[in-house]
Amino acid sequence: MLAVRAVSVWPQPTRSVYRNRNVFYISGMYEWSDTDLMFRDALRGFIEKEIRPHVDRLESGELPPYDIIRKLYSAFGIDEMARESLERALAKEEAGEKSSGSGGMGGSPGMAALLNIEIAGISLGLVASLGVSLGLTAGTIRSRGTLAQKKRWLPELVTFEKVGAWAITEPDSGSDAFGGMKTTVRRDGEDYILNGQKTFITNGPYADVIIVYAKLDEGDASVDRRDRKVLVFVLDKGMEGLTQSPPFKKMGMNSSPTGELFFDNVRITRDRLLGETEESGKSDGKDSAKESFAAERIGIAYLSLGIIERCLELCVEYSHSRKLWGSEIGRFQLIQLKLAEMEIARVNVRNMVFSAIERAQAGKPVSLSEASAMKLYSSRAATDVAMEAVQLFGGNGYMAEYRVEQLARDAKSLMIYAGSNEIQVTHIAKGLLAR
Ligand SMILES: Cc1cc2nc3c(=O)[nH]c(=O)nc-3n(C[C@H](O)[C@H](O)[C@H](O)COP(=O)(O)OP(=O)(O)OC[C@H]3O[C@@H](n4cnc5c(N)ncnc54)[C@H](O)[C@@H]3O)c2cc1C
Repeated sequence: MLAVRAVSVWPQPTRSVYRNRNVFYISGMYEWSDTDLMFRDALRGFIEKEIRPHVDRLESGELPPYDIIRKLYSAFGIDEMARESLERALAKEEAGEKSSGSGGMGGSPGMAALLNIEIAGISLGLVASLGVSLGLTAGTIRSRGTLAQKKRWLPELVTFEKVGAWAITEPDSGSDAFGGMKTTVRRDGEDYILNGQKTFITNGPYADVIIVYAKLDEGDASVDRRDRKVLVFVLDKGMEGLTQSPPFKKMGMNSSPTGELFFDNVRITRDRLLGETEESGKSDGKDSAKESFAAERIGIAYLSLGIIERCLELCVEYSHSRKLWGSEIGRFQLIQLKLAEMEIARVNVRNMVFSAIERAQAGKPVSLSEASAMKLYSSRAATDVAMEAVQLFGGNGYMAEYRVEQLARDAKSLMIYAGSNEIQVTHIAKGLLAR
């Protein structure tokens, strides 16, 4: 077993300044620690051996990503680290002490970032499925659940024995998630009855544990449907009235199964309401979803960096190997311009990533407005870089065999999910105008 125990070894920051056409970014920049680099090298070995040979089957949807994720967890001891970290956190909570970290994988922020970055360039969907299960599903139970709920669902989620999904989007309410939500719950004695539908749900087709957001229908027609309370519940696969669709066919990120969920009079006992009482405030869906937004958006910067780094690697290789007019294409200035702009994007996004890691390490979390700026910039940069990579490869770039076309299709998803980029604009502006 490659038991990489993440120890935080953070060298001194150095001051760096970078500029491109649109961005002027200053950062007290950290480098990867020696431990992070050891982890990265071991991870690259795992990717070569255990992921790359299966990419075609993952991308066709023939092979769901979950067993490979479990193998990754076991190879790096992440399952054990996560289990131990959770046990410590729950014991602290039981003893009445404040605790954090009971939903994560128990490593350093650098290690978590590297896991996302390194896998994103090979199989974005695989790492997106992992992130939704661990970050959004386990993360929501960690921050909103009672101790009993954490004990019930987290142990198998943090070790990836069970797969999680997080369901808020509906056919008529994407960006307008709360206002347009039509999935409802009504009280029935001590229980609730859930009806409605969710769509575009990552891991939806296979999930064992599902977080569902639903509007409370109290039977009072005078309350505008848009303004009704949103509650959050935890469902388990196989509950009566719950249907999980097969995966959709998508443009990219095909190693992540995405599907629909249907709720037909699903009876939900109160122990599945997050926080277990409406009065606790923990069941408030609007607050709960907002809590997840910043982390999810920072995660997009990690994934974007992975795509950009992989594109650059492939493009530099191809600039040497492709010869035209008796010369490597890397000698042509228009090709050099593409490489230079990819490098500028890499440096900018990497600095954003380092800044987020540094802030997490210092206990000074990135604000929602800043996280939105990171998401918007990095997803756009990744998509631009990947499209330019296709162009640099010419006709080969358009062929699946050369992989840059997959990267371009994958990158585009980053501009849509975790809140579309247009919605990021509104959140950035809101942060600025509130000052
Ligand atoms: C691969 C993938 C995985 C996903 N996984 C999940 C998941 O696990 N769980 C989940 O709940 N959801 C998930 N989603 C859904 C995702 O969050 C939504 O697709 C996204 O929020 C956009 O909603 P929509 O698709 O309904 O687009 P719409 O909201 O219909 O938007 C249409 C267009 O209008 C723009 N627009 C909307 N409002 C405004 C505005 N106020 N100003 C300007 N422009 C605006 C949008 O930016 C977009 O360009 C996933 C989506 C994808 C593609």
